[in-house]
Amino acid sequence: MRLTVLGTGYVGLVTGACFAEMGNHVTCVDRDAAKIQRLERGEVPIYEPGLEPLVAANLRQGRLRFTTRLAEAVAGAEVIFIAVGTPPRADGSADVEDVLAAARDLGACLDHDAVVVVKSTVPVGTTERVEALITEALSARREILTVDVAFNPEFLKEGDAVNDFMRPDRVIVGSRSARAIALLRMLYAPFTRNHERLLTMAVRDAEMTKYAANAMLATRISFMNELATICERLGVDVEQVRVGIGSDPRIGYSFIYPGCGYGGSCFPKDVRALIRLAQDAGVDAQLLRAVEARNQVQKRALFDKLTARFGQRLAGLRFGLWGLAFKPGTDDMREAPAVTLIAQLIEAGATVSAFDPAAMTAAQATLPREWFEAGRLQLSNDQYDALEDASALLLVTEWKQFRNPDFARMRSAMRLPVIFDGRNQYDPARMAAEGFEYHGIGRGGRG
Ligand code: NAD
Repeated sequence: MRLTVLGTGYVGLVTGACFAEMGNHVTCVDRDAAKIQRLERGEVPIYEPGLEPLVAANLRQGRLRFTTRLAEAVAGAEVIFIAVGTPPRADGSADVEDVLAAARDLGACLDHDAVVVVKSTVPVGTTERVEALITEALSARREILTVDVAFNPEFLKEGDAVNDFMRPDRVIVGSRSARAIALLRMLYAPFTRNHERLLTMAVRDAEMTKYAANAMLATRISFMNELATICERLGVDVEQVRVGIGSDPRIGYSFIYPGCGYGGSCFPKDVRALIRLAQDAGVDAQLLRAVEARNQVQKRALFDKLTARFGQRLAGLRFGLWGLAFKPGTDDMREAPAVTLIAQLIEAGATVSAFDPAAMTAAQATLPREWFEAGRLQLSNDQYDALEDASALLLVTEWKQFRNPDFARMRSAMRLPVIFDGRNQYDPARMAAEGFEYHGIGRGGRG
């Protein structure tokens, strides 16, 4: 099939590369010319395991192309995916301007029948607006075409995106067009061969399903973070509780890890967008507001523990920080807890040496220049270098290489053997045996 994907971010690029890998001819279009130039050379601007070889192979074999020109990109395309960003507005609502602009642009250049699929996460009702804008633009040009519209949310996880796309748990298609559903069923068939996983539903139901999934996962995290706070006060180890409840198949182990808050480009913005969507519909989303509020508190957890240990004024103290990305396996730092923590430390007068296995370039490009210029934030080439003369290690992202480090080397590099473990990676008893003062999350009486 001939496909077009609008937007070459985490979702658009993975979608384009994976569809090309299955034999389709895909043109990816982005308004960011620098990004497109790099992609044309086979350079993938984001860190996503397995993506670069996939892009390179499909470019080489002529099934994947990149352009900034929409009209050229959609020529002959049977299915056009909109995978542009929907960032948060100041009031929490999702900014769907890029999605609507894409719809207008499509309406202005389409000259053949096609199926347009919204893949971006959008508030209920947006896909209907996309359909209306395309129809309006076509009729303004007196074009009589059949353009069917569908909503097909993306459930990939950054850090494992290619794998998720290639082996989806489910594919959801919201549409009232039998033609759109049939085309998408055909397109996704190679990904769901062993088990039919394509669910169809009304567009609005599908739009809500995407928000519901992310809000549920965020709720589980905030629930555990709240529980951890209670455990800490009661001399209870939340890690024992986690294993205890996770063994119940009705609960399960996923997304019940306490920590220093969730971040990324999806959970925070999608929870806020759903709160806002509810509010606009006259519903006070009390639970979701609490999920968001708990996360804000949780992003302060390490800093509060640190000031309880070192005092409010941290001037003259250096801290080593491991992990800048919002989670392991990605270089994405959008709403990352590490960024909040670094800001708090710098504000209190401290200096930070940070290391991340993948996000160093992203950190250099996105963190405030004045932090670097004032010498308050340094990026270290190595996880141990980041601990030179540090009064404590702050573990913020649970990359595998941080799980079993050389504790003797750490101790000799650090000024004080103190660990604040924002992801409960270490065993308090082992830390005591290794000579570290250990502070975890919710490990009452044990760190
Ligand atoms: P992103 O910010 O990484 O990329 C968006 C891209 O779209 C950018 O390259 C931008 O230049 C481009 N763009 C914007 N407007 C355009 C236009 N009119 N024409 C062409 N290109 C345009 O975004 P992302 O993380 O890939 O997310 C995209 C959507 O998918 C969002 O709605 C997001 O909520 C959703 N989503 C993201 C993830 C994730 O893990 N990142 C997972 C599921 C769903």
